[in-house]
Amino acid sequence: MPERILIVEDEPAIAEAVEYALKAEGFEVEAVADGDAALQQARARPYDLLVLDLMLPGLSGVEVCRRLREESAVPILMLTAKDGEVDRVLGLEVGADDYVPKPFSMPELVARVRALLRRRKLDNRESITTLRVGELELDLAKHEVHLADEHVPLTAFELKLLALLAGQPGRVFSRREIMGHLWNSSYVGDERACDLHVSNIRRKIERNPAHPERPLKRGLRSAP
Ligand code: CA
Repeated sequence: MPERILIVEDEPAIAEAVEYALKAEGFEVEAVADGDAALQQARARPYDLLVLDLMLPGLSGVEVCRRLREESAVPILMLTAKDGEVDRVLGLEVGADDYVPKPFSMPELVARVRALLRRRKLDNRESITTLRVGELELDLAKHEVHLADEHVPLTAFELKLLALLAGQPGRVFSRREIMGHLWNSSYVGDERACDLHVSNIRRKIERNPAHPERPLKRGLRSAP
């Protein structure tokens, strides 16, 4: 599946050129022109990377970056003004992963994008075997889940679902997304089956399943 990139840039000529260059590299690309649309779009769909201009109408790139960082680890490449040393520092401080000063060449931008995606893949590979959210620990290699050091018996399917949610805490998943992820295909079958799995997991990890309090509650709540 091609990696999906969101471009946030209000200058149409630059947005178009970047979109063209990234599409030519085989990426799936979408573009928005202001900060509010960027937040909305980034929350609505999962992206593998954001190319984020700093100077935007409405919410600034810095503000977009700051807010997204509170809920997602998506790699963010900032586009900054040529002499914007302060902008660069600020961008990195609020969680941007890298920056490219304007004007930039397309080969340079593409190389930075590729480098960030590569780095993210390596990070994922290293941390893939154990996931921790609060008292909950998922050992994906051993297929074991512990809650406050007590073993929790989960089915393989439940473990996969929990791993998906725990891997991106705070992110909201639709039923369709969850089932699509778990079955690794676009066939999603009966989305209601998802509710059953979620309620089964809740029964196993919540003190009171009717009032979920575990760190996963946002992701789990969003599913039904
Ligand atoms: Ca701009």
